[in-house]
Amino acid sequence: MRKLMVMLAVVAAPLLLMAACGEQEMSMAKEEHQQAASADSSAYRDLTPEEERVIVQKGTEMPFTGEYYQHFEDGTYHCRRCDAPLYNSTDKFQTSCGWPSFDDEIPGAVRRERDADGMRTEILCANCGAHLGHVFEGERLTDTNVRHCVNSVSLVFKPSEEGSSRAIGARDDGAEVADIPADAGGTRKAYFAGGCFWGVEHLFEQKEGVVSAVSGYMGGKVDEPTYRQVCSGRTGHVEAVEVEYDPATVSYEELAKYFFEIHDPTQDNGQGPDIGSQYLSVAFYGSDEEKETAERLIDVLRDKGYDIATMVLPNATFWPAEDYHQDYYEKKGSRPYCHAYTKRF
Ligand SMILES: [Zn+2]
Repeated sequence: MRKLMVMLAVVAAPLLLMAACGEQEMSMAKEEHQQAASADSSAYRDLTPEEERVIVQKGTEMPFTGEYYQHFEDGTYHCRRCDAPLYNSTDKFQTSCGWPSFDDEIPGAVRRERDADGMRTEILCANCGAHLGHVFEGERLTDTNVRHCVNSVSLVFKPSEEGSSRAIGARDDGAEVADIPADAGGTRKAYFAGGCFWGVEHLFEQKEGVVSAVSGYMGGKVDEPTYRQVCSGRTGHVEAVEVEYDPATVSYEELAKYFFEIHDPTQDNGQGPDIGSQYLSVAFYGSDEEKETAERLIDVLRDKGYDIATMVLPNATFWPAEDYHQDYYEKKGSRPYCHAYTKRF
């Protein structure tokens, strides 16, 4: 027994010493860094108390409250304190985590450090050391398999010159909004997301002039997503429905009006009991005309007192959902649990 104790002491002593040295080195490095950071701090912006709490004291803003959590415009996100460019909007993607998420950084702009909690990796502005948030790897949310989870308070957004908005999580692949696609039969396709696609698809199939409605996923960064992936709320996709219609019988405007009447466009965190970013309300557009129509209808509803949460975003690749999601209510012989027609126009 005594022998064992001695052995333990021999093994443990250097470990304790190492831990102590490590801490000392870390605090020295921090002091050096703070000195370096304060050297040219005259160029820094004055911080509000909340900015100070996050950027200097390494605090965290309340989830779902940040200015840039649901912000998707073309431009660059800079360091709130020193103005160094940190992230491009093309690397921003939608998550349900509650903070702005990026799957890549501007090269050399972000420094990584082991967080004080010993578990996570802290990210800091490489220029001034401002605390940004944390970086996570291996979540398989996007191609890069990296998520920079950043406090809005640490950032300031600067729009690009064009300043146009883009789809949720859409990459800058140069895709322009094309003219309304019409297939050989003269039908057109429109895309809507209004919560669980079973109900949206079911109700669009009842609409006169609709040739077919297909449940699928749209707007995110993951190719060929599965229902399970989308359910995680972290692919950037929403549950969407592809509505193929005959423009001689029904117009895009009539379909868009119907869309606003078969789901609750005022709910901003999902639809009915389905909460999460994959259930958000989106009217996708394939042309400037469709965009203007959707925006005009939202204005009409706002004038009527509805606080509309629906986003108007350009079409992205539509990924049809697994077969068992198609015609779900017909197969089950039941009715939608959270979608019903309500006259609003
Ligand atoms: Zn900075």
